[in-house]
This record gives sequence, structure tokens and C-alpha cells, in this order.
Amino acid sequence: MWSVNDYFDHEFDGDVESQADEIVNEAKNKITDLIYESVKSEIEQDRQNYERAKERADELQKECYEKSEKINTLEIELKRTKEELKRKDKEIPQTPFALGDEVWVPYRKYGDKGEIKCPTCNGEGYITALTDAYGTLKCVCPHCHNDWGKTKAEYDKYSIERRYIKSINIFTDKAKEARFDYGTIEDKSNLEVKDYHYVNTVTHVYSTKEEALKKAQEWENESKKKAEEKIFGEKK
Ligand SMILES: [Zn+2]
Repeated sequence: MWSVNDYFDHEFDGDVESQADEIVNEAKNKITDLIYESVKSEIEQDRQNYERAKERADELQKECYEKSEKINTLEIELKRTKEELKRKDKEIPQTPFALGDEVWVPYRKYGDKGEIKCPTCNGEGYITALTDAYGTLKCVCPHCHNDWGKTKAEYDKYSIERRYIKSINIFTDKAKEARFDYGTIEDKSNLEVKDYHYVNTVTHVYSTKEEALKKAQEWENESKKKAEEKIFGEKK
């Protein structure tokens, strides 16, 4: 009959057994130490890596902060430059005249009109003819037919006067061109007075009499031409 005891060496020495235990334990301890050392150094490595990474992260964060500071400064500068450019557009343009300047101004004369008359009837609307049989006859003018606005036409006369600039208005027209008009007064002593009662605003002012006269004549001629067209226009 087979017994389990057959497998064991009953002669096995107890001392040998304890010696083996010692060897195993020693080996176990060595392995444990080895693992411990290795893990320890790995942890140390990790710690150093972590420190380095943290330092780098701090550096990057600082750099990032500095750069964003720079960006902010640049943005502020850019904004300021843009505003300056915008303002440049609105800057007050140079006027050819200054406050207080003596100038010559062409103006339309009120109550002094020129007249163009029908050349046939001299603006009467009728012509008279002396006949043997009937004496003097009055006939409707064959040229203007005594039509309203055809017998006579008025035109404006212009003159010039010396004035002084009391105020200057600057504005832009549709083409965004700078335009000026001038508040002028007749009496130089009123330049300092805070009274705008006698201020006449005009757009055409000249530094010389001659220039002003030229303009006055130009305006008068234009007006006269229109009157002549009314009277002679249909002759063409
Ligand atoms: Zn006539």
C-alpha cells in the first residue's frame, strides 16, 4: 500500500533545513533592499524632474506675463496713435485770413438796379408812329409784345467795401474740403466789442481792392447777362 510518507526523507537533517531558511531570507532581504534602492532612486529622479519642470513652468509663466505686459503697452500705444490720426483729420485747417484783418468785400447794392430794356420800344412796350391820316398811333411793340418780363429786366449791381474780420467759421463741404466764411464788421473799433449785431457773414473776402472789384464786376456781369437773355434771348 502506497503511503504519503514515502515521499519524505525521514532522514532529513533539521540543521540543513534551518540553513536553507537563512539563505532564502538573506536573498529575500537583498532583493528587498535592491528594490527599495531602485525605487528610492526613481523617486529621487522623479522629484528632481518635478522640480525642474516646476522651475520651467515658473519661467514660462513669468515670460508669458512679461509678454502680455508688452502686448498691453503696445495696444495702448496703438490706440493712442489711432486717436492721433483721427484727430489729425479734424485739425483746424489754415485760413488765408486772420482775425482783425482788413479786407475788401464785394457786395450787392440794394436799391440800385441796372435795367435792360427792349431795344425796339426802349422798354415802353409800345411804339408810336406818326401818320398823315391818323396822326400819332400807338402800337404794341413788335419785338417784346409788351409781355411782362420781356420789355424790361433788372440786374444787380455790385460794389466793394472795406471791412474787418471779427470771426471765422470753418466747415467742410460735401467733398470734405475745408471751407471758410468770415464775420466782418465795418468799424475797426468794434473788433474788441462782444457784440455781433453789425457782423455780416461773407464767403468772399480779399486783401486788395482790385481783387474785390474784379469779383464785384464778375457778379454784376453774370446778373446782367441773365437780364439780357430775358430780353434778347428769343432773337437767336
Ligand atoms: Zn419792346
